[in-house]
Amino acid sequence: MKCWDPRMEEMPKEDLQTMQYKLLKSLVYRLYSFSPFYHDRMKEHKVHPDDIRELADVKKLPFMFKRDLRDNYPNKIFTATQDDLVRYHVSSGTTGKPTVVGYTQNDLDLWTASLARALTSIGLGRGDVIQVSYGYGLFTGGLGMHYGAERIGATVLPTSVGNTERQIELMQDLGATAIACTPSYLLHIGEVAEKMGVDIKKDTKLRVGILGAEPWTDGMRTRIENWLGIKAYDIYGTSELSGPMFTECAEQKGFHIWSDIALVEVIDPKTGEQLEAGEKGELTITMLQKEALPMIRFRIGDISVVEDAVCPCGRTHPRVQRIQGRVDDMLIIRGINVFPSQVEYALMAIPEVGQHFQIIVERKGALDDMLVRVELNRESFSDRIPALMQVQQKVEHRLRNSLNVNANVELVEPGSLPRFEGKSKKVIDKRSL
Ligand SMILES: [Zn+2]
Repeated sequence: MKCWDPRMEEMPKEDLQTMQYKLLKSLVYRLYSFSPFYHDRMKEHKVHPDDIRELADVKKLPFMFKRDLRDNYPNKIFTATQDDLVRYHVSSGTTGKPTVVGYTQNDLDLWTASLARALTSIGLGRGDVIQVSYGYGLFTGGLGMHYGAERIGATVLPTSVGNTERQIELMQDLGATAIACTPSYLLHIGEVAEKMGVDIKKDTKLRVGILGAEPWTDGMRTRIENWLGIKAYDIYGTSELSGPMFTECAEQKGFHIWSDIALVEVIDPKTGEQLEAGEKGELTITMLQKEALPMIRFRIGDISVVEDAVCPCGRTHPRVQRIQGRVDDMLIIRGINVFPSQVEYALMAIPEVGQHFQIIVERKGALDDMLVRVELNRESFSDRIPALMQVQQKVEHRLRNSLNVNANVELVEPGSLPRFEGKSKKVIDKRSL
């Protein structure tokens, strides 16, 4: 099957935009009329629902931020009554209060429909066994993927995170054809499998990875695909908006953002000005149909580019390119902006380098000092000092060229850097400790 919902997924662009306008208009009226939070926010911003006369008028609306959820903890800005709520998810957040997201049955149905379209677009369906190795519980990844996978008629293997050897045994015994987890965890699974004498390529039926919850690069994709003999697809979403909702299609050219569910914009993170399609900036999403916690122009903090052209797969919905970093992950090293994903991009082009690295930033005197610790792969790890020196120079040169800033490089033994079952922590910024 090519599309889960062909009428919606292949709808002409103009019709999609008309639909978005109508959904936006009724959302804004509903929130202005019934929610004190949105009413006050719009008043402060001197915008009235009557000012929304076309889709482009979305830019007149005020932004929402993660702090709006924290400041209104736990549920002060929900727009559904307790009777209508059927689930909570809670994200821990690294600082301050957690954020709570509530869902009505319709909210869950839309989330599930979004994933059903996405999973179908990468060729999954009845007969597939999808191993869900995202955490189950308050985190959205496990349950979100679970319902999407069941909806398309696949068999779910809900392993959650951890107990990696058992995950590999079950993958073999139950014939998992796809796995959903973080890219870091799949790397860990690959390594543990090797230690167990299991060749994922030959000894399992795995053919698809659905990888997300942290930024990763195309270089990493190539490595994972070649090493494990699978197709690796990026998945996107964030707990404030539901959870993981959008994946790339089989073209692997960006996530399709379903226009009937979400209105995506890219803005300049400093000025808040809307940018054109094709320009790089911060993603902002309006959830057009959510009932319990609709978000208007939510500043996600992820940096990327939106492509508006119709995808070669035939789907008309806009695509968001691979996330290039987060506004708050951005390191400023001696005045230059550096994203950890740029470091990964540079490193993955060097064949001697393994899959793992760590960035340590310190202040030495008045200057920022960046150290990149890089694991070599097993074949290149040798005791021959001249060979290692050569690799070290190559890595330093690559990093300088792509980051425009000097980094110290330390080559380390394969397997010596920390491994992660969930999101990896690649950066240690000692300046902020
Ligand atoms: Zn496509």
